Parts: sequence; structure tokens; C-alpha cells
Amino acid sequence: MSEFDLIDVIRKHCAIARDDVRVGIGDDAAVLAVPAHHQLAVSTDTLVSGVHFPEATEAADIGWKSLAVNLSDLAAMGATPAWATLALTLPSSDRAWVENFCGGFASLAREFKLALVGGDTTQGPLTITVTVHGFVPNDMALLRNGARVGDFVFVTGTLGDAAGGLRLMGSDEPRTDLAQELVQRLNRPTPRVAQGLVLRGRARSCIDVSDGLLADLGHICTASGVGAEIDVDALPMSSTLSAGFSRDDRRNLQLSGGDDYELCFTASDDAATELLGDLARSGCGATRIGRIIEESGVRVVDAAGNAVAVARRGWEHFA
Ligand code: ADP
Ligand code: MG
Repeated sequence: MSEFDLIDVIRKHCAIARDDVRVGIGDDAAVLAVPAHHQLAVSTDTLVSGVHFPEATEAADIGWKSLAVNLSDLAAMGATPAWATLALTLPSSDRAWVENFCGGFASLAREFKLALVGGDTTQGPLTITVTVHGFVPNDMALLRNGARVGDFVFVTGTLGDAAGGLRLMGSDEPRTDLAQELVQRLNRPTPRVAQGLVLRGRARSCIDVSDGLLADLGHICTASGVGAEIDVDALPMSSTLSAGFSRDDRRNLQLSGGDDYELCFTASDDAATELLGDLARSGCGATRIGRIIEESGVRVVDAAGNAVAVARRGWEHFA
């Protein structure tokens, strides 16, 4: 297949009709209409084979995940997804692989009525770069820098499942149903878009947890000029994770494991109760895990208030 045949396959699978796409795939650039009184939130994430996903990962899962990690960034900004571009670098012109990739990508895109409006197709080591565009009402984006001393810290969903799945994948033990469930969380993360919209205008700060809770909450603290204290025993955990790991392993996965794609946010005491109710009604509740303090850095304590040592703080390239 030629480059243009591949682009045609992608266009057929992934193009979704939207009135605001004046020109989509096929010209030199897409032409897009931003609604009045809104700003664009734009984010890019690259997935490299062997770095961001194991080489044996199914094409459909890679397609899903490459979009999901980007939608998670829009969710953290409180943005409504609209458009995406896709830069695909493939080792060879493999039609079946591209069709499966598009299957995963398009099933998530359809859920959010997100249109693929352009991209680039090149040959080289398998690498996927997606750029997403979403809308926020003027000056309403959720930022990292709004946390205030006294805020409570919350996180949506559960933590550590994806990192637990990755750990089990690397072990020689036979694959159980339990492992299967955790690996599914690794391969098919759910971007918390609806929850980001609930938080908009109500949370003081927000970030998506991609590199591990400690690392990402650390970014909120640095940007806001504050610190945080979190209770490791309050961290939300799936029954699957608790069944599969010892207490200390589980704690490390929850604190430092990456790939959760949950939202970590802070809110004032006053706003918290109503917010938690609205989040639960949106389909994914949140849990209070700590509070914002003056002293910089992220401190971890247990339910008894004792300091907890942390093995590894999170994922970083070039580290
Ligand atoms: P150009 O040479 O002008 O950069 P290309 O030949 O790279 O154009 O692409 C032709 C059209 O196909 C463009 O509209 C481009 O946005 C689109 N396209 C190319 N690759 C992809 C892809 N992987 N996903 C979606 N659209 C793509
Ligand atoms: Mg091009």
C-alpha cells in the first residue's frame, strides 16, 4: 500500500462529521471554526513503541490509548474535545495493522464526537503522535496553579491499576482474570472528560495523573507555590489491585505508578461536598486523599499520621 492508500484507510475509519470542520483530511491543512466566546485548549502526546507501550500491544489498544492519553489532558483542563490530528510513523505499510489501530482510535473518538481532521504518515520506528483540540469558555480553563493552603486534594476513580497490570505482564506467572483486568486498565484507559467538565469553574487546580500521583500532584504544588500532605491509606484502590499485591507494593503502585489517567484536583472545603455528589452522578466519583499545606513538597502519611517513605516518585524520561 502507498502512503496515500493508508491515509484513505485512516480517513474512512476515523472521519466523523462535524459542522465546525470546514476542511478536513485531504487538503494542505484543516480549516476549523472555533465557537464564539471560547478558547482552544490544545495538547500533544507521543507514544513510542517499547517506551509507552510494550511492543506486543495490539494495534487496536494502541489506537485507543494514543487518543485516550490526549483526551485526558483536555479533561484536566476542563475542555470539551472537538478535533484531533494524527502523526503516524510505521515500520512498514501494513493495512491490517492500520485498520485495527483505527478501530481502537475511532471507537473512542465516536464516544466524544471528536473528528480526525489531518495528520502525517511516515516510515520509521513505530511512533504515534496525536494532537487534540478542545473548547473552553473564555478564561475558564482548569489550571495547575490555583491550589491554596487549606484546599482538600481529591482524585477520581482508582489509582495503581495500570501500573499493577504492567508489573504482572512482566512476570512469568500465568495470566489470571485478575491480571487481565489490570492490563485492560493499562491498555484502555478511560479519559475523565465528563468529570473535567464538572470540575470547571469549581475546582481550584487540576492535573491528570499520567506519571504517578506524587509526581503529578507535585506539579500542582510547584505551580501553585504550596505543598501537600496525602494519606496513603485514603488512596482509592480497586478490589483487583488489593487482591493482587501486598500492602507495600500496592502503596508504591498507587503513589508512583504511571498511566492511571485519573484527575487529581484541589477544591475548597465549601465546594467539596456538592462537587463530590456531582462527580458521582457523572459516572466516576472522587475520593478525598489529603490537603494543601504551606510547606513545599508532597508529604505522605498513613492513617495514623506517621510519615511513609516512598520508593520511587514517578516516571521521567532522561532520568
Ligand atoms: P502534505 O504533503 O501537504 O503534508 P500529506 O500528503 O502529508 O500532505 O497528507 C495529505 C492529507 O492527508 C492531509 O490533509 C493530511 O492532513 C492528511 N493525513 C496524512 N496522514 C494522516 C494521518 N495519519 N491521519 C490523518 N490524516 C492524515
Ligand atoms: Mg505531510
